[in-house]
Amino acid sequence: MRNFSKSKLMALRQCPKRFWLEIHRPALRIESTAAEARFEAGHHVGEIARRLYDPMGEAVMVDVEGQGFAAAIQHTSDLLQAQQPVFEAGFAAGGALAFADVMLPSGEQPLEWRMVEVKSSTRVKPYHCDDVAVQAYVARTAGVRLSGVAVACIDSSWTYPGGGDYRGLLHENDLTQEALAREEEVKCWIDRAQTVSALDQAPEMAVGPHCDDPFECGFYGHCNQHESQATYPIHWLPRRGARLKQALDARQITDMRDVPDDLLNPVQQRVKHHTLTDTVYFDSTGAAEDLAAHPLPAQFLDFETIQFAVPIWAGTRPYQQIPFQYSLHTLMENGEVLHGDFLTLDGEDPSRRLAMALVADCGDRAWPIFAYNAGFEKSRLRELALRFPEHAAPLLAIVDRVVDLLPIARERYYHPSQKGSWSIKAVLPAAVPALRYSDLAGVQDGGMAMDAYLEAIHPVTSLERVEIIRRQLLAYCQLDTYAMVRLWQVFNGHA
Ligand code: SF4
Repeated sequence: MRNFSKSKLMALRQCPKRFWLEIHRPALRIESTAAEARFEAGHHVGEIARRLYDPMGEAVMVDVEGQGFAAAIQHTSDLLQAQQPVFEAGFAAGGALAFADVMLPSGEQPLEWRMVEVKSSTRVKPYHCDDVAVQAYVARTAGVRLSGVAVACIDSSWTYPGGGDYRGLLHENDLTQEALAREEEVKCWIDRAQTVSALDQAPEMAVGPHCDDPFECGFYGHCNQHESQATYPIHWLPRRGARLKQALDARQITDMRDVPDDLLNPVQQRVKHHTLTDTVYFDSTGAAEDLAAHPLPAQFLDFETIQFAVPIWAGTRPYQQIPFQYSLHTLMENGEVLHGDFLTLDGEDPSRRLAMALVADCGDRAWPIFAYNAGFEKSRLRELALRFPEHAAPLLAIVDRVVDLLPIARERYYHPSQKGSWSIKAVLPAAVPALRYSDLAGVQDGGMAMDAYLEAIHPVTSLERVEIIRRQLLAYCQLDTYAMVRLWQVFNGHA
């Protein structure tokens, strides 16, 4: 009987076609950047977990990549015999293969083991329960006595004190009962895996919500090319709530043309109408009235942020969005446009310096400060005010001046090329065709900005490369705020 890895069984839980393709057509899989980032974050959390669970350096890590499966499983068995704490402990039994992140001896006789799976998420998710059920089944079938099974997640409320002290980063969730009670279920998954893997062809499975749940599937491009494509797909309808999704699923509607108007709210009806008639919606009077409430001079602000599963700067929390850059345009009453910015790539915490520079650049005037989807900028400003009480008053004064340009765009403007999105990257090329993010060299979106920042602060990155990244980041963030200036002008009839 073939042994299936835990990850293969998890793929089967998501979709039998995915499982079959992973076994028989793995070359068709394309991993997304998000998936790669998740692996990277998981890797770093794993490293810290090993330090936390083994402060005395007594544990041994099984090297499955270097040794191969058979040797790794034998090595694990030898280490357990020697009552040694083990990382990446390998087991094969009952038709499955699994590697446990942490195995800790209980110290009692007969010897039992506590198994811990380390996750980079901030809470236990349903698939984690499947995951530990497989781990526990394989280990117990291999003859290991388990005293407990836990999932250690990241505590996003914990603040890193600095100095490499990561005690408190992880919090354990006991899943012993749940994991041990599901052996029969796991056996069914393994039986099903044997059946599906023996099929000559992939099982029929249409793409759907399961392709992203719990993870985006790397075979989506392969599967989707065989699906009939709607001319006006329903995912162009903005903000489809659960009720609308259910109604469309129940009627098997995939094209906007088939969606009854009475299921849609006014904005969705507008998107449908202007998409199907290929016309632009622009309430120029309403847009000008909205903006008249915030007269010139006005400023336009955008942050670029970075987040770490494992914080690297004291005073920050896991996954906290930390601004490392801003761009600030100022539009004067006479039409003059001024620009300022902040960016540091020295690898030190940029927060305090950024806060001080921003306070100086915004000044204590009453000018409005436009942001696009302003809740994000306001949240970052409030977090900076909390971290640096000495700058709280001027930072909170900036919060009070922030005006959101996104609701005005959403209410007053729609071009069919937006395909249901009011992200600035969708609105800008429609409203101001001469300005395009795709014309930028290197960094063209927020994800690329994060990657570029991480590369720039990495110790091995050359100074020449850092300078190239600096120019790309400055150009990208500058376009974000200049885009707002131009939208403001278009909405005010100054195209
Ligand atoms: S893309 Fe969807 S349907 Fe295709 S294998 Fe993946 S989960 Fe299954």
